[in-house]
Amino acid sequence: MTEKIYNLAIVGYGGMGSYHAHYILKDHKQVKVYGVYDSKPNRMDAGMKDGYKAFDSLDALLSDEFVDIVLIATPNDVHKEIAIKAIAAGKHVVCEKPVTIHSEELIEIMDTVKNTDQVFMVHQNRRWDEDFLTIKNIYDNRKIGEVFQIESRVHGANGIPGDWRHVKGNGGGMVLDWGVHLLDQLLFMIDSKISSIYANLSFILGNEVDDGFQTIITFENGVRALVEVGTTNFITLPRWYAKGTEGTAVIEDWSNNGKIVIQNRDVVASVPKPIKAGQGLTKTMAPPSGEATTTYPLPEPIELNEHFYDNLLSVIEKRQEPFVKNEEVLRLSKLIEILFESAEKNEIIKVSL
Ligand code: NAD
Repeated sequence: MTEKIYNLAIVGYGGMGSYHAHYILKDHKQVKVYGVYDSKPNRMDAGMKDGYKAFDSLDALLSDEFVDIVLIATPNDVHKEIAIKAIAAGKHVVCEKPVTIHSEELIEIMDTVKNTDQVFMVHQNRRWDEDFLTIKNIYDNRKIGEVFQIESRVHGANGIPGDWRHVKGNGGGMVLDWGVHLLDQLLFMIDSKISSIYANLSFILGNEVDDGFQTIITFENGVRALVEVGTTNFITLPRWYAKGTEGTAVIEDWSNNGKIVIQNRDVVASVPKPIKAGQGLTKTMAPPSGEATTTYPLPEPIELNEHFYDNLLSVIEKRQEPFVKNEEVLRLSKLIEILFESAEKNEIIKVSL
């Protein structure tokens, strides 16, 4: 039996829209990029040059019966209106992150899609990142014992990129840009409700939106996570750092350089000798003796069954559950709202989320 081909049309053919076309979907057997619509003429030209049909308007794209799937890759403030129109036109929809700026907008989309046969899925692609799937392996399979502290960071030194990312009304700022990825990974990994959130935002570069943030999220199961995004970091800290009851793990970067160090519980290790540290003497902070720990390479990333677009087709054809569930994205959206509230009030906010 020949497999059905799905035509995908891209609304917003900028950086990420064209990344879907050139990389993510380049060799996809069943999802073919068919057309584009962008409000900027030069991006329409780029779409035509790449061999796609350029639609004069969003309405023209939505009324084309050959379009099966619409990908929304515009700035964040217009995701909702495009999504609702596309669903009303009978299309399946993939929406870039952050799905919307406010959780009520996502609820409107979910209400719209609820009684239809269509699928609405958010592109939380960083659930497939190898560094994340490695820390998830460490967490799920107790490679350092019971994890009680996780630190997840991305650091850059190039400030906020582009144009609309500087504008609050467009949904700019780093919480809504990178924060959405890191927080989604955390919620996907830790199977427990959140009990409290504290956050602070940075405005070092003088924009109306945050150029970075730090948040501390405490889960009901006792795990405490620090998530940090920075765009003014000329020296970067590791991508992941995790502490467990039996050891510590570090993942330095997206290429999965790192290690695990485990305490050798059965070995009677010699007590570390005091060392001179600065102007003082310390035994507490002296490195453990050689026999007290063992260093291991990082484990393999865990395998996720299907990639994003394969899963989308499985969901459309009712063979699988969505890998990125709208309810999960709604929880993420609510978390981000509380994060902003905490930063605004400079308070720890207690929740059951
Ligand atoms: P971009 O500025 O490069 O591209 C956005 C494009 O949308 C531009 O070409 C612009 O002309 C067009 N546009 C603006 N308003 C429009 C409208 N109403 N109708 C049609 N076209 C419109 O931005 P980008 O970096 O590609 O980001 C786009 C989306 O993708 C954002 O939601 C962003 O958060 C997301 N994104 C996701 C990832 C990821 O890893 N998942 C990475 C980058 C960006």
